[in-house]
Amino acid sequence: MATTDIAPPRDFVREIVAEDCKSGKYGGRVHTRFPPEPNGYLHIGHSKSIWLNFGVAQEFGGLCNLRFDDTNPAKEEVEYVESIKEDVRWLGFDWDDRLYYASDYFERLYDFAVQLIKKGKAYVCDLSPEQMREYRGTLTEPGKESPWRNRSVEENLDLFARMRQGEFEEGSRTLRAKIDMASPYISMRDPVIYRILKTAHHRTGEQWCIYPMYDFTHCLSDSIEGITHSICTLEFENNHPLYDWFLDQLEVFHPLQIEFARLELTHTVLSKRKLIQLVRDGIVSGWDDPRMPTISGLRRRGYTPESIRAFNERNGVAKTNSMVDIGLLEHAIREDLNKRAPRAMVVLRPLRVVIDNYPEGLVEEMDAINNPEDPAAGTRKVPFSKVLYIEQEDFREDPPKDFYRLAPGREVRLRYAYFVRCESVVKDDRGQVVELHCTYDPATRGGDAPDGRKVKSTLHWVSAQHAVPVTARLYELLFTKENMNDMEDGHTWTDYLNPNSLEVLTGCQAEPMIAGAKPGERFQFERMGYFCVDKDSQPGALVFNRTVTLRDPYAKIEKARKASS
Ligand code: ATP
Ligand code: MG
Repeated sequence: MATTDIAPPRDFVREIVAEDCKSGKYGGRVHTRFPPEPNGYLHIGHSKSIWLNFGVAQEFGGLCNLRFDDTNPAKEEVEYVESIKEDVRWLGFDWDDRLYYASDYFERLYDFAVQLIKKGKAYVCDLSPEQMREYRGTLTEPGKESPWRNRSVEENLDLFARMRQGEFEEGSRTLRAKIDMASPYISMRDPVIYRILKTAHHRTGEQWCIYPMYDFTHCLSDSIEGITHSICTLEFENNHPLYDWFLDQLEVFHPLQIEFARLELTHTVLSKRKLIQLVRDGIVSGWDDPRMPTISGLRRRGYTPESIRAFNERNGVAKTNSMVDIGLLEHAIREDLNKRAPRAMVVLRPLRVVIDNYPEGLVEEMDAINNPEDPAAGTRKVPFSKVLYIEQEDFREDPPKDFYRLAPGREVRLRYAYFVRCESVVKDDRGQVVELHCTYDPATRGGDAPDGRKVKSTLHWVSAQHAVPVTARLYELLFTKENMNDMEDGHTWTDYLNPNSLEVLTGCQAEPMIAGAKPGERFQFERMGYFCVDKDSQPGALVFNRTVTLRDPYAKIEKARKASS
């Protein structure tokens, strides 16, 4: 047996970090950061970055900062800042006192820009945005140098100071890094590092009318905070040389940028621009609509932080982009809730059942198991009486061959109660079945027949006289198309919105225990799925969101995988 039981790093990011710790690079220190731009709510993709950045820091005895990358005053709002803080905390991570804003560094960033000018590495450019695009070149053609590229240091210093003073119009001038207009990396073709924007900022107010660009701000913020490993998504690979260039030119502390593949999910859009559009156009009820892939939407839907962390853990970290089946996210929440959600009997689409031979006025308290996965959850009493509700779909007047539930003349078990046999049906004028008449067998109390006769199914039920009416919201996928990155010709992403993504059922009937449920509480409604109490609930008028159905196509796959490993 080996004497050490240290597991090998689980992914290439952890491999790099472990190697750096071993070699003593950065003095063995590990310091990461999660750097959201406060221009929208966090989504499931961000949870991957949060889990990775905070997780790596935790595992290597390091620290992780929360830093708002707030360099674009036009799109950012305090509401987003607050929601992001709430969501990171809810996911189970803590930045302690290390909450930072790139905007706190504006003065230092300005000084860094002045340093670049003094070194002859930055210049004020008068090209218009359109001209600049023209001069930039393409992937196959080099760009052209700006006619303003060779201004003297003195002139650049003067013009940059006057940009800051507000002397020039928006779009009339920029400060650009002087690198290489022929670089194969377009990001290296004299990128803009400051632009004029006469817009107030949510933190610095009217103090600035020039704002630093993302690439310049990001690497220097990392450097200022002493970040050792700057983990970001693959699309920043092209900006990696620029990240290094700024730090090298300014001769400051140099973190290592590491790129990983972003999370993408089937049937889901994660672009903030699109999520904003869903909210603004009223296609969903808000950022926390339970159909949204946002953290706040998933929370309201009934997802737990544990399930989201487990989902990320299972997916791991890769170097190439791929798409994850949304079924795996659902699998993660089922696994978690199966272990801890108390069970309840709730009939979503009620059908009245009268037990003709059951004594009028009698109420029996049946013992029900709160959670078969957790004996400590104990049992509860569920009242049984002469008039009950069962699920409409559990009865067929004319049952097909493979339908084993209730039908005329057929006997089934009512969970925790008795066998009942359907004797006759009552219909309305349109021929719809509105009531069943059944008989029960008193000898089957508890669920078994002393004579050994079997039934093929067990139904959930609710005593009508004790029932608590509730509303249930059932969800389907928000988009019908599996790969939302790949639109068919002539189609746009909104064409694939699922018109059936929300179904609201009023008049569902729940067992009495449910009456005391509080917003955020989660249950398994037996046979119907996992449900979570919504914040729209009022006393006496509870609203439940279905988190997920019980059927799990991944349980089998998972079992097979475990068996073979
Ligand atoms: P936008 O959609 O506006 O371009 P963004 O989703 O990249 O932005 P940021 O606020 O910049 O939003 O993201 C914060 C961090 O989360 C970044 O480090 C980013 O790389 C990471 N991130 C964003 N989306 C994903 C994703 N789908 N998977 C993994 N990480 C992500
Ligand atoms: Mg981004």
